[in-house]
Amino acid sequence: MTQVDVRIYEVGPRDGLQNERAAIGVDAKLQFIDLLADAGLREIEATSLVSPTAIPQLADADELLARLNRRPGVRYPVLVPNARGLERAVAAGAEAICVFTAASETFSRHNLGMSISESLAAFAPVLAHAGEAGWWTRGYLSTAFGCPYEGPVAEAAVVSVAERLLAAGVDELSIGDTIGVAGPSDVRRVVRALNGAGIGQDRLAMHFHDTRGTAVANVSAALDLGIRCFDSSTGGTGGCPYAPGAAGNLATEDLVYLLDREGLRHGVDLDGVLAAAAFISDTLGRPLASKVGQAGGWPA
Ligand code: MG
Repeated sequence: MTQVDVRIYEVGPRDGLQNERAAIGVDAKLQFIDLLADAGLREIEATSLVSPTAIPQLADADELLARLNRRPGVRYPVLVPNARGLERAVAAGAEAICVFTAASETFSRHNLGMSISESLAAFAPVLAHAGEAGWWTRGYLSTAFGCPYEGPVAEAAVVSVAERLLAAGVDELSIGDTIGVAGPSDVRRVVRALNGAGIGQDRLAMHFHDTRGTAVANVSAALDLGIRCFDSSTGGTGGCPYAPGAAGNLATEDLVYLLDREGLRHGVDLDGVLAAAAFISDTLGRPLASKVGQAGGWPA
């Protein structure tokens, strides 16, 4: 495996597409995933085994996983919310799974229909099975910087849920700025609070949204703190369900460009990402949300 300084964790096929309104066929999703692997991405979150009625865009998850061209050296995590999703993950031959909760109680109730404690209980059997089976696991901790219902979120709330996720057995935490409100000082405040609770950078990934144009600045701040895993979505797909029309996930091409300029190795080819971004832009029938997608790399 190529030596890397920074891991780029691609969330486009799952987190990116789940918020897109246009119906996308399973063939197009599979082609998108192949293009992402062609670009050198080695962690590609493929889909979510939620209820098909909860997220219609990912209702084809079982078919997608059955037909997925799993390449050696590429991890294809899937989101598994509960025991029913676990059955489907086992049937699909999953080896890497994610669970999802929030730092904000109100967001958890609105987004998951459960309290934070109830969400932890719902995916406890998933993590227990994963531990026995030797699967890689990740826990999403959303609304770590701000909540669309409660406003600012205290770092103590983030630390508390982070500790519960790690105690439940997740290998890695993805700390999410779900509504894209954080700036670099917020990143330093939250990461230092996690570190103060004994949670090291080796357990942390950052999941920034570019809703207000701060995602790349936040990555830079997190790099200075020693964070070495970032989530991003090729083409900047995902939008923001709480701000219609606004940008969502940090675009992989914007992240790759920054890391290249910083001289950090990540194993991903910008032109390959731009090709995948162009494909998903065509599929969705709208222009790319990313800066580098519009301007291209440099030097050419
Ligand atoms: Mg996201």
